[in-house]
Amino acid sequence: MSNFCPYCGSALANPNQVICLKCGCAVAPTNRARPINYADLQEPWNGGTFVLFIVLTLFVPLVGIILGAINLSSAKNSEKRRTQALTLLIIGGVAVFINTFFLFVFFLILSQMA
Ligand SMILES: [Zn+2]
Repeated sequence: MSNFCPYCGSALANPNQVICLKCGCAVAPTNRARPINYADLQEPWNGGTFVLFIVLTLFVPLVGIILGAINLSSAKNSEKRRTQALTLLIIGGVAVFINTFFLFVFFLILSQMA
């Protein structure tokens, strides 16, 4: 699919170009960043999914940290989903410390038993 300059009618090589190379007129790029279509926004996770992610994050903090970081930075996500993502990120961060602590206690007990 090629685009044409609305002023001189010559074909535009690149859909992102802002100036017609033949006549020099400014042409609007056809696929410039569109305003956010709110129908496209990612819905927040439903309660069950969110709880599942939290539980998963408690056992494998990296899951929550990655999931949280990806969803927090995505502009396509609704405000609520980004809040959920931030929550996962925080839980993931806290879980890293908790898991490290339990691992420490586990090895301490293990060393006492030896
Ligand atoms: Zn032109």
